[in-house]
Amino acid sequence: MEFDYVIVGAGSAGCVLAARLSENASVSVCLLEAGPPDTHPLIHVPFGILWMMHSRRLNWRYYTAPQTHLHGRRLFWPRGKTLGGSSSSNAMCYTRGHPADYDAWRDLGNPGWGYADVLPYFKRAENRERGGDAYHGAGGPLNVASLRSPNPLALAFVEAAASAGYRRNDDFSGAEQEGVGLYEVTQIQGQRCSAARAYLRPATGRSNLRVITRAQATGVLFAGRRASEVAFLEGGTSRKVRARREVILCGGAINSPQLLLLSGVGPGVELQHLGIPVLRDLPGVGRNLQDHLDIILVQECKKPVSYGLTPVTAVRGLAEIVHYVVAKRGMYTTNAAEAGGFVKSGAREPWPDLQLHFTTAPLSNHGLDVKFLLQQGYSLHVCDLRPKSRGEIRLESRDPLAHPAIEPNYLDEPEDLEKLVAGFKAARRVLAAPAFDPYRGREIAPGPAVQSDDEIRDFIRCKAETIYHPVGTCRMGNDPQAVVDAELRVRGVEALRVVDASVMPLLVGGNTNAPTIMIAEKAADLIRSARI
Ligand SMILES: Cc1cc2nc3c(=O)[nH]c(=O)nc-3n(C[C@H](O)[C@H](O)[C@H](O)COP(=O)(O)OP(=O)(O)OC[C@H]3O[C@@H](n4cnc5c(N)ncnc54)[C@H](O)[C@@H]3O)c2cc1C
Repeated sequence: MEFDYVIVGAGSAGCVLAARLSENASVSVCLLEAGPPDTHPLIHVPFGILWMMHSRRLNWRYYTAPQTHLHGRRLFWPRGKTLGGSSSSNAMCYTRGHPADYDAWRDLGNPGWGYADVLPYFKRAENRERGGDAYHGAGGPLNVASLRSPNPLALAFVEAAASAGYRRNDDFSGAEQEGVGLYEVTQIQGQRCSAARAYLRPATGRSNLRVITRAQATGVLFAGRRASEVAFLEGGTSRKVRARREVILCGGAINSPQLLLLSGVGPGVELQHLGIPVLRDLPGVGRNLQDHLDIILVQECKKPVSYGLTPVTAVRGLAEIVHYVVAKRGMYTTNAAEAGGFVKSGAREPWPDLQLHFTTAPLSNHGLDVKFLLQQGYSLHVCDLRPKSRGEIRLESRDPLAHPAIEPNYLDEPEDLEKLVAGFKAARRVLAAPAFDPYRGREIAPGPAVQSDDEIRDFIRCKAETIYHPVGTCRMGNDPQAVVDAELRVRGVEALRVVDASVMPLLVGGNTNAPTIMIAEKAADLIRSARI
């Protein structure tokens, strides 16, 4: 098999690239995806996120290494494993981060990645149902909708946060990010709009695009220093596909560095230790891992309006099936995190440094603490948007099917803990505001016993979890630790790029799906304009 471009991973970035590159009928594109096709109906029903996050077939279900600063806990890290990747299992919140995030990327030695440079790519990707303007696109593949049936609790959250002193904002990607409101969501007609739905589905009929599912890449093969082939396993059989022009890794922040390391591109000493021949000593591969660490306050709800799994919700759920099937409205359109926003931990912060996600169910540990879910309740998440701690992805073996070691090193920098303490207090203030009076029962987590700063710190160490935004492990830049340059080419080799969340040099202050799609939109232009 031979194609012009071979793309590894059909996630948020891979779907964009496959669709954009194959727009040119004279080039051929092969897209390899480890997971199966996205045919399961629960992928497309927004409420299905509760199941998608835990699916053994459609999720990688990673666990981190034991976390020193979180009482030795190993944290659950779900990542999507189907067409659409994590965009087929995420919470669908459409946000972009702050303009200053992209200016910081540019200032770190990445020309072309400042906010003014990337805004056109956010717009090109987007079809905002409310219409385009200076900040938003209309007519792009990714549908961005308002929630069709917001839960009354989400509306109460917005009132509560406003009365606690936070400004209202109905467009977090517009002129000003700061404020609280309902999230806009990547949905279309009440269904999930994953990158596969947005980009791949319209491109399916193209004769120059071949999508191979259940095909896990196991290594990039080189002719000299030039990436020439990708080895993969399909149904237990080893196969190879040749790339005439380029190999493009879109496996995400865990798998792209893993594949580079397996292919001999990474820290030389570590590779030698594992017996992997070193093709290119690139010390930054897998390093610079950043993620949003999150804590959740959970409140009992006195009225049966939440999506806690109680008999009342079950009865309502049955009735709502018809509503969803016929009108694509109602509780099954919930993205779980219906409301939230971007706030400052202190008046001196130049821009929001905390993000709130309000969920209309009593959640703990990604829904894995089932006893929490079996009651009426609601939850307020808070995360530190720009943590200082840095972690890494490491190989533990040469087996391409083994999970790599994930060491986020959460709270390694003490400042990160203090930021979460400030966030905890802000969240508690919001939950105590009058708008919640009709709903508020007892505080389930952490509970009234947790009051002092030390008690809050211990609660954070006991309960903090990821809010699913790992990035940075194939960082772009122009220094010796950088993995790719500003055109996303892997440094020191030829015909190999990385295009996904792993190239972000710094984590953005917001959710990471739209930023990853933006990266791939820009990469498509970089690749198309490259001299062959
Ligand atoms: C539960 C959850 C909730 C989230 N909520 C939100 C949200 O509300 N809003 C938001 O903006 N972001 C959210 N995110 C984050 C966002 O979805 C991700 O940052 C984004 O999808 C990352 O895109 P990616 O292309 O880098 O990787 P992915 O989308 O993860 O794609 C990687 C793809 O590569 C495939 N792959 C990996 N290795 C191989 C291999 N060796 N061979 C072949 N294929 C391979 C994978 O199966 C996957 O399909 C959430 C993520 C999760 C997991």
